[in-house]
Amino acid sequence: MKLLDGKIVKAKIAEHLKAEVVDLVVKPKMVILQVGDLPESNAYIAQKKKFAEEIGAEVVHQNYANDVTSFEIIVDIRKLNIDSSVHGIILQLPVPKNLNASDLIDEINPQKDVDGMTSTNLKKLAQNRTDGFIPATTSGIMSLLGFYNVELEGKKVLMIGRSMLVGKPTALALLNKNATVSIAHSKTKNLPELSREQDVVIVAIGNPRFITEEYFSSNQIVVDVGINLEKVGLKEEIDGPQKTKLVGDVDFENVKDVVGAISPVPGGVGAMTVAALFENLVKACQLQNKGVI
Ligand code: NAP
Repeated sequence: MKLLDGKIVKAKIAEHLKAEVVDLVVKPKMVILQVGDLPESNAYIAQKKKFAEEIGAEVVHQNYANDVTSFEIIVDIRKLNIDSSVHGIILQLPVPKNLNASDLIDEINPQKDVDGMTSTNLKKLAQNRTDGFIPATTSGIMSLLGFYNVELEGKKVLMIGRSMLVGKPTALALLNKNATVSIAHSKTKNLPELSREQDVVIVAIGNPRFITEEYFSSNQIVVDVGINLEKVGLKEEIDGPQKTKLVGDVDFENVKDVVGAISPVPGGVGAMTVAALFENLVKACQLQNKGVI
């Protein structure tokens, strides 16, 4: 089994971006808008700040209380849209249920939408245009496959999960690489059988270690997008919040000996997503400063 190690690729991207940032006249700056303080979101934001520091970019973290109104956030987004010192704006997901995330995201200037989640950028992805921003997780998955020379053209690829955040944009990106793409979801029948017929299987369902060895056959390439916190330890010991471990949607320990290659969790797609986000930010900064956009 070959390990699709995202940490190695992330380090290479960081090195490359650091060199690009040195050549820029201004420091790339991203503003992260967060509503509430979910521990998972806080952890992702901390990773983004750390990566920014590593490559010489700037991250400004703007936090709102849970009872913030859409109007207040929209006012801020509109100010950031016209602030020439800001090159990227992201809304940290999830947001509380009373806010409409896609409406808020669509307020972001598509040229500063480094998460690639506005309707404008998603449409460009659907049209296979290269002048938009691809969602960071999708871009990270594609870079990981690219780094390990995974052939996609004409291959059978299954995307398990159909969210707007991961499944749908990733299926489009795979299609743009001429893969024959199937998309599975919670209503798909005979999923293990469908999965075993594929060359590549990408999993993003948000269900810890749910996808077991019965879903796979030899020589398949597996990308596990899932990031789940699983409680570990003896039943009577698992109350403490410290006793958790990060696991994917794929049962890595049992699947790794069946397939040809697999990405681990942590250290797989998660690592790639942060790097891909900053690739988008540096690109946004370069384009904005060249007056291209
Ligand atoms: P989501 O919005 O909850 O979507 C989950 C999708 O999986 C849905 O389409 C759902 O089907 C499908 N699904 C759920 N259970 C299934 C099952 N048993 N069989 C087949 N399909 C099933 O989740 P998401 O935002 O896409 O995130 C998925 C996972 O990726 C999570 O663990 C999340 O933490 C992780 N994630 C990681 C990164 C990263 O950077 N690595 C980034 C984003 C998300 P229905 O549509 O029928 O409900």
